Order: sequence, then C-alpha cells, then structure tokens
Amino acid sequence: MEKKIYSVAVDGPSGAGKSTLAKAAAAKLGIVYVDTGAIYRSIGYYVYRKGIDPKDAPAVIAILPELDIRMCYGEDGVQRMILNGEDVSAQIRLPEMSMYASAVSAIPEVRTFLLEMQRQIARTTAVIMDGRDIGTVVLPDAEVKIFLTASAEIRARRRMKELEQRGTPQPFEEVLQQIVERDWADSHREAAPLKQADDAVLLDTGLLNFEESLTALLNIIREKVGV
Ligand code: C5P
Repeated sequence: MEKKIYSVAVDGPSGAGKSTLAKAAAAKLGIVYVDTGAIYRSIGYYVYRKGIDPKDAPAVIAILPELDIRMCYGEDGVQRMILNGEDVSAQIRLPEMSMYASAVSAIPEVRTFLLEMQRQIARTTAVIMDGRDIGTVVLPDAEVKIFLTASAEIRARRRMKELEQRGTPQPFEEVLQQIVERDWADSHREAAPLKQADDAVLLDTGLLNFEESLTALLNIIREKVGV
C-alpha cells in the first residue's frame, strides 16, 4: 500500500516542548520529523564562527551563497545538520546559538533562502515539521496545524532541566529572561513572526506531563488525518 503523504505543522515559542513531542509523534506515526530551528541554528553557527554580528543583515546576506546546508538522518533516526560537509549537530545546540539563530532568522533574505528547502521535504514524504512559521508561511496547506505553548515560567523550568542534563546549567532568572527576550524577538519581527495560524489547534502543555501531551498531540493528528 502506498504511504499517505501529509504534513503536520507544529509551531510555538521556544521551550514549549515542540521538538521532543514532534520527534516522539513522528516515531509513533512512522513519518519524518523535521526540526527547522536546527536549520536557522546552522546559519547562526556559521555567522558566529565567522565573527559576524548576526544583526548585521548585509553581512549575513553576503555569506548565504557560501552555505551548503543538508539534513540527514542517522541510523538512530536522529536528524543531523551538515554544514558545508561538516556535522554541526552538537555545536548548534550551544546556548549562545539560540540568540544567533533568532537574530539571523529575523532577516527576510535568510528566510527566503530556506523556504524552498523546507517545502521540498514535505512534498516527497509525510512529515511533522516544527518551527515558528510552518503553519503560517512554510506549509500553509498542511493537513494539521498545531500551536504548542506553555507559560514562560514553565518553559524556563523545563529548559533549566535540559541545560543541567547537558552539563551547562544556568540560574532560573537568566533562563527565564532569555525565554522572554526570544519570545518577544520571534513574535515582533516583521518577517514571518511567530503567531498562531487561524486554522491551528492550540495545545497548552503547561499542566500536562510528557505522555499526556503526546497523547493530546497524536489525537489531534489522528482525528484530522485519519491515520
Ligand atoms: O526552535 P529553536 O529554538 O531551535 O529555533 C531557534 C530560533 O530559530 C528561534 O528562536 C527562531 O528565531 C528561529 N526559527 C524561526 N523559524 C523557524 C524555526 C526557528 O524563525 N521555523
């Protein structure tokens, strides 16, 4: 039987649990998970390594032709980012790369540069793609759109745990401030700001644990797509 091609767009602020949940949902449904934040992080990392100010739009635009960004999947099914032939999957997770990614992602030319790459993936296979503008800009015709959120405090607590596990702990106030700043930057930029698509289902994971959130996410998808 031919596999059904459908797209699930998952958008929301940082720390709402998008990547962990989308990854788990993809495994359950047997579809591909695409973490679009990782693509912006790869550009952020390149800009960082070149010593360029990520807010200097002309300088960032000038390096775009130097970039060859590819995504591949390891045997473990984990998405890896290959930047000009080098696996940068670990480096793009360094805490400083969040702000670099956020700054370069506000540049319209950077977004246009990545648009086709993201759309092409969804044309060939069933995907669950997470980001900030998937339901609004990248895949406006996605069969399922979910806006995943939770309060800034809850997201900061979750992020703190993650940072601790990675061996790069940070105090709560600092993490919270970074989250609030990134939320503001992501939702106030002119190019594809973070916002809920009109036809997206809102899922607040604030009071749900991981299993409950995953069940809620899968229920929304199954109801819409019939898988
Ligand atoms: O999701 P993640 O935190 O890895 O994304 C890093 C940054 O990349 C976000 O803060 C956001 O500014 C940007 N981004 C975006 N559009 C996407 C995915 C990420 O602007 N679709």
